[in-house]
Amino acid sequence: MTTDRHQDEQAFVDAIETWAEKELRPVAKAFDQADEYPHAIVEQMKELGLFGATISPEYGGLGLSAWTYAQIVIKVASVWMAPSGIFNSHLIVAAAIERNGTEEQKRHFLPRLATGELRASIGLTEPNAGSDLQAIRTVARREGDDYVVNGSKMWITNSLHGNLTLLLVKTDPQAQPRHKGMSMLICEKGPGFEVVGKLKKMGYRSIDTCELRFDNYRVHESRLLGGVEGRGFVHTANGLELGRINVGARGAGIAEGALKLALRYAQERETFGKPIWQHQAVQLKLADMVTQVEGAKRLLEQAAVKYDRGERCDLEAAMAKLAGSEAGANCAQEAMRIFGGYSYSVEYDIERFYRDAMLMCIGEGANEILRQVIAKQLIDRHRI
Ligand SMILES: Cc1cc2nc3c(=O)[nH]c(=O)nc-3n(C[C@H](O)[C@H](O)[C@H](O)COP(=O)(O)OP(=O)(O)OC[C@H]3O[C@@H](n4cnc5c(N)ncnc54)[C@H](O)[C@@H]3O)c2cc1C
Repeated sequence: MTTDRHQDEQAFVDAIETWAEKELRPVAKAFDQADEYPHAIVEQMKELGLFGATISPEYGGLGLSAWTYAQIVIKVASVWMAPSGIFNSHLIVAAAIERNGTEEQKRHFLPRLATGELRASIGLTEPNAGSDLQAIRTVARREGDDYVVNGSKMWITNSLHGNLTLLLVKTDPQAQPRHKGMSMLICEKGPGFEVVGKLKKMGYRSIDTCELRFDNYRVHESRLLGGVEGRGFVHTANGLELGRINVGARGAGIAEGALKLALRYAQERETFGKPIWQHQAVQLKLADMVTQVEGAKRLLEQAAVKYDRGERCDLEAAMAKLAGSEAGANCAQEAMRIFGGYSYSVEYDIERFYRDAMLMCIGEGANEILRQVIAKQLIDRHRI
């Protein structure tokens, strides 16, 4: 990256930090508690260019590097994680179209995704298939120039307020191995595409996560991602590196935000005649927390820099996601302990960090699965 570009990108990260402090922090608690969608915040995100953050300038985006993107996500999540979900799944879809789409698909969708006129969700998970995506049952049957889609999806974020879903389907349900019968379709809302309703969640509130049903929904064959059937599983796997960097960044952001709150409280709260940070037990927590935050950030940087160089980074992205998400869950929990009884009051922001944190350990590859990915990659790279 040239010095000028580096300075521009750093200036953008700083601008997002200022925006998050000014616009998100004061309203986060109220939106979270009301579980209300932050429409005005979305308009501000459009103005900031966040919906085109990683889309190439050729298609109207800012073309930011993955590391700059990760830093933006950390800044937002360190204040309020939920809004980062509004542009994260969207940018995963944009990256999938830019990397795998036909030129017509890129020209048709990317400029409108970059402005936020179109806002995207990614539809992989089904009621009976999350980690084991090859077990999905949503089927797209070819009929003339269209695919006719039937099935359902579960836990799809951005699907109520967004207008486009990148949908993983079976175009050949009998194929063996199973992944060869999977494809991705770029689906705009229309007859037969039903958003069943916003799911009630313990955390990551305000943001729309929904069940989707497809009942003879028709989509033109030109909306088959890349124009070739049977590549859906490969396209999904390709998107996981950036997806894992972004979820790891959300975790690291939660960890950093929880640490910040804990550092302040530990200096304000006194017991036994001194601020609680002066008790060794609290110091041990703060030391472990900052070490986890900084460790996660270094792993994220390592993965993102490799991604930007176009190198394979599945091991690095998995480690960054694991470290970031576990840092988020652990730091939020440790901060709760530092806040003592007040952590349990909904008047304090820390309980939101605690409720939001656990999701990062589950989404974009549950950490149990990721540990297996890491171990297998490790053996592959160090075969004797
Ligand atoms: C709030 C929220 C938002 C979401 N947003 C989206 C979205 O926008 N789009 C989308 O497609 N999905 C989304 N998801 C779904 C999410 O990606 C899945 O929940 C996740 O992939 C796990 O799948 P599952 O829930 O079916 O769990 P399962 O796959 O049933 O796993 C259950 C448990 O078993 C473990 N396990 C499963 N298989 C193995 C194995 N082989 N070895 C070891 N352990 C294993 C898992 O680690 C986990 O602990 C969202 C989920 C939530 C909760």
